Amino acid sequence: MIKQKKINNLLNVIHKEYGIFAPILDGKELFISKISDIKDIDYSGRIPLNSWKYLFFPPCEDIFEVNKDDFQEIKHDYPKVCAYNMTVLDLKALGLYDLVFKDDPYYLKRRRNTLVVGYFASSPEKKDFKDWTNYATSFYENTLEHIPFDIFIMRSKAGNFKVYSGSYKGQDILEKAKIKEFSNVKFVGLIPEEGPDKRMLELYDVIKNSKDDKLWDELGKICIACGKCSQVCPTCFCFDLEDEPQNNSIIRKRSCSNCFHPEFTELAGGASYTGSVKEKLIFWYEHKFVRIPKEYNVPGCVGCNRCSEVCPVLININKNLSSLKKK
Ligand code: SF4
Ligand code: SF4
Repeated sequence: MIKQKKINNLLNVIHKEYGIFAPILDGKELFISKISDIKDIDYSGRIPLNSWKYLFFPPCEDIFEVNKDDFQEIKHDYPKVCAYNMTVLDLKALGLYDLVFKDDPYYLKRRRNTLVVGYFASSPEKKDFKDWTNYATSFYENTLEHIPFDIFIMRSKAGNFKVYSGSYKGQDILEKAKIKEFSNVKFVGLIPEEGPDKRMLELYDVIKNSKDDKLWDELGKICIACGKCSQVCPTCFCFDLEDEPQNNSIIRKRSCSNCFHPEFTELAGGASYTGSVKEKLIFWYEHKFVRIPKEYNVPGCVGCNRCSEVCPVLININKNLSSLKKK
């Protein structure tokens, strides 16, 4: 166990090499922001409202340029950043991204330049309890072996810290910070020894067989298709490719897309296979609970509850799943 002073020293060492992004309290809400002062970092262990995903997958980027008879990759700066105090649920979402984008050179360059520091407060402050219950249930003894990280920090009830290294990169930083009291953890894949996630297996059948459920009609009438749920969701990764003419060349751009936007799934001639709001909602749930589990054998929803927190018409994913499960 080490004291906060050593953790601050670790942060100072990280800060010399990396720009640090961490959860910071703004009013009552936690947001991931670039920090200028390490004292601002929140250690409650709560889930921030926005997602870490834009550090790895920016909302819009130019990827290549086509001239008359030439084709060039557009070079970007990939600054070294540290994602500090990522919760276990967000690390599970990062694990899914690592699978989905395993052959994507743009993702891989950003991922390689990011130092991932996970965090778990084993005894939350009382005021954080509401957000805690869901999340605490997802931390088991072997959790660390099944999530990707470079360094993982765990806060004890007494306010001391236990530190783990999950990669050579993490180990190197810990050694530079002169922290000797750490354990090494070997990542052995996202799927635990006891088999795929039980909630995922249960919800797979529930959602797959739910198309005729009346709940979708009800939700289709109240959802305003604003797309906020997908924007904050750490596992949503759909993107759009657009070619933009510029002088004598064409720039291919990749930008985050959103299944609630009107042009999503639009086909030539104006047809769309998710035309109604009800169809968009079913499509979103099927992606998370049917198609991702089928393709990757891991959950497409990590249960962070961000989508419910931001929904302007109070659509709550947990209530919807419970309602569908009862039928
Ligand atoms: S945030 Fe709510 S209203 Fe907006 S698209 Fe998602 S479910 Fe619909
Ligand atoms: S709870 Fe909502 S925001 Fe969180 S992973 Fe699941 S669908 Fe995405």
